Amino acid sequence: MIIRQGFKFRLEASDTQGARLRVLCGHARFVWNQALAKCHEAADAEGEYVPRYETMAKWVTAWKREPDTEWLKEAYTDNLQQKLKDLDTGWQRYFKKVEGAQRPRFKKKGKSRDSVRFVNFQKYCKIDNRRVKLPAGLGWVRFRKSREIVGAIKNCTVGFEGGRWFISFQTEREVSEPAHPSASMIGVDMGVARFLTLSDGTFIEPVSAFKVNQGNLARAQRALARKVKFSANWQKQKAKINRLHSRIANLRRDTLHKASTQISNNHAMIVIEDLKVGNMSRSAKGDVDNPGVNVKAKSGLNRSILDQGWYEFRRQLEYKQAFRGGGVLAVPAHHTSQTCPECQHVSPDNRTSQARFECVKCGFKENADLVGAINIQARGHRVLACGEFGLPDSVKQEPVRNREEVAPSAAHAALGIPHRRC
Ligand SMILES: [Zn+2]
Repeated sequence: MIIRQGFKFRLEASDTQGARLRVLCGHARFVWNQALAKCHEAADAEGEYVPRYETMAKWVTAWKREPDTEWLKEAYTDNLQQKLKDLDTGWQRYFKKVEGAQRPRFKKKGKSRDSVRFVNFQKYCKIDNRRVKLPAGLGWVRFRKSREIVGAIKNCTVGFEGGRWFISFQTEREVSEPAHPSASMIGVDMGVARFLTLSDGTFIEPVSAFKVNQGNLARAQRALARKVKFSANWQKQKAKINRLHSRIANLRRDTLHKASTQISNNHAMIVIEDLKVGNMSRSAKGDVDNPGVNVKAKSGLNRSILDQGWYEFRRQLEYKQAFRGGGVLAVPAHHTSQTCPECQHVSPDNRTSQARFECVKCGFKENADLVGAINIQARGHRVLACGEFGLPDSVKQEPVRNREEVAPSAAHAALGIPHRRC
């Protein structure tokens, strides 16, 4: 099995190197925006179609010959090609409606995250303890090596975030197929009030530091609005805001990593809801024909959902489980919060409040998030055992045939999880 891992460090670029990196980012941004504009023209003319990478690469060759854009000859070609490949991938993901994929956007100077990618690392770059040698006129650049890099470096990306340069090395290494040390299966409910609730009753609260920093950010943004645009004080305030954005992003990533590592360490099979976060967090504003309802409440909820980074969490769980030999199972989310784990009775009345669950039929009482997690885990058992979507009989659309004949799945048996009848 091949493990791909990224290692990110602060890059200590000198003033000259910083200036050169900014130029390289500028080239990349220019090519991205120009190519994106041409893609939009094509999409307008031909519907859901834009030219692929091979065609885009020819545009760049042409731009290098035009007097206005001749300066592109000075650009680092590999970097431009990488940006076009990214753009190509972006469009394809968007057309294929990959979860979380958005239509590629124009990059704004200072607003979008700028980056330069150096491919074919072994051929064009070199690493020597705390220094890395980069092509395109950069030479040796120091970085803060806070941990050892494991595996062979395939490529690296230099990016500018929150007023600082970072370098991220992408590595690959071959390992033997791992077997997860644990045999347990856990259901995880992702919520807004409680960040994560596990079916064994434990839970993780959302980070409070996050709210504090967000308050600071709002205050800093109001202060910015009072300053004269582009003045020295305005620039200073702007830099402060960028640093706050960067701190919030780090906090979020950190919490997610801690939670996903902890869960992945302890459980061979993690069952989560197959939430279509894209649908849930879509703007509640609606359009002219179909104005959105409850815009304010929804946008608050949306922000919380996005803040907690569900997609990112699932991504982390999936790669960490692959790493350890475990699995992640996404099950349909219908009625997980309204079904009684004791008697399977489904009713919205079972939810007495956001936090409490009380079954109207059998009187079972529990924290609502925990009920969700238990139902998710139970659904995971059914999916693994019978290959069906684990809906209780009361909400099942079609009868499942030959249910008795379906053997417990190999994955289920391998994990040592007892087979339950559906
Ligand atoms: Zn009940």
